[in-house]
Amino acid sequence: MAAIGTARLLKRLVELNRIGETVEGGVTRLGFSQEEEAAVRLCEQWMRELGLVVRRDSVGNLYGRRPGRREGPAVVTGSHVDSVPNGGKYDGVVGVLCALEAVGLFAARNIVTEYPLEVVVFRCEESSRFGVATLGSRAVAGSLREEDLHRLCDADGVTVAQAMAALGLEPRRLAEARRSPGSVRAFVEIHVEQGTVLERAGCPIGVVTHIAAPTRYQVRVSGEAAHSGATPMNRRKDALAAAAEIVLAVERAAQDEAACGTVGTVGVLTVKPGAMNVIPGDVEMGIDIRSIDGESKKRAVQRILAAMEETALRRGVKITEKLLVDEEPVALSPWVQEQIRWAAERAGHRHMPIVSAAGHDAMHMARIAPTGMVFLPSRDGVSHNPLEYTDIEDVAAGAEVLFWTLWRLAEAQGEAPLEVEPLTA
Ligand SMILES: [Zn+2]
Repeated sequence: MAAIGTARLLKRLVELNRIGETVEGGVTRLGFSQEEEAAVRLCEQWMRELGLVVRRDSVGNLYGRRPGRREGPAVVTGSHVDSVPNGGKYDGVVGVLCALEAVGLFAARNIVTEYPLEVVVFRCEESSRFGVATLGSRAVAGSLREEDLHRLCDADGVTVAQAMAALGLEPRRLAEARRSPGSVRAFVEIHVEQGTVLERAGCPIGVVTHIAAPTRYQVRVSGEAAHSGATPMNRRKDALAAAAEIVLAVERAAQDEAACGTVGTVGVLTVKPGAMNVIPGDVEMGIDIRSIDGESKKRAVQRILAAMEETALRRGVKITEKLLVDEEPVALSPWVQEQIRWAAERAGHRHMPIVSAAGHDAMHMARIAPTGMVFLPSRDGVSHNPLEYTDIEDVAAGAEVLFWTLWRLAEAQGEAPLEVEPLTA
């Protein structure tokens, strides 16, 4: 293994995605399922082949470590191998394969680094099974509580703790997965963009500057169900008409903050009783507001809450809201971004700054270490779908950029290899 191997990346991609493959050509490897476990075991086998020192933490996150001249702190890179139901073959997987490829090249060339290198495979990144995303990295950052493992459950009523126990993991040892800030020198995650920015720009490497974060509310509007023919207009408490005003208020609030990159959506609306001849008495709606700017997001939320209060008063309906999610946007480390830009230039790949609209494990690692992310182009921006696709040449470019990024972050010693050998198909 003398160079980044495109063929090897492809071979591993195919092999890993045989696990949980669906008839539609996607994959189903839910968090803490047997399929995810099998994929993690395959990564473990590859780590051993690279001579990495392998360990599992208490929530099942997998680490493969290559020692440096110092004991630590380590430069960590990786992503996840779980998926949504019938999801794509690149989300998460690409970050793990690039990490194995880049760290494997250090091993194959016997390159000495000052700091240790670690490949990580985080567990249960997707929220589709338990309703909460990034469980593995939350545990590492210390932002998951043991009670959460017993509270969160899947559609069959299986709790995270039960799913973990079925894999031989011990939920009560959750705290042992936590890493101290001093133990991680930097974290870098490669991920497919899941959007069209890079594709449209014809640019292979996105250097992520911020990760946007959502605030979500479940809102209930209670009016009065009544006969649509017999109830005069001035006697109505129409829950849907009130909800419609809230939908528009969300749109307006987000539009007013658009310059800060804030977006707002009402994507769910349940109307009851839901008959042509009955005035809607009850509406449930879901509001999702996202931004990379925490202050802007707060302003949008305040406006929406004020509009709800005003609507309730004016229309005589009752509006209650439940805060489901409220996360802070993350600004990624300028230092790590600088190393990624240097690496892209060193490898001869064009790069551009980009924002992550979706959450990632990097979000939690950023709480304990300087963190950066590299995005690779997604064809047509399609993700969480069997049609998800990233060109394997772009994946290889990502691995190459990651190699040089690690070179800098871990302070590789001696002469830089003259070049990474050209990619071989
Ligand atoms: Zn992902």
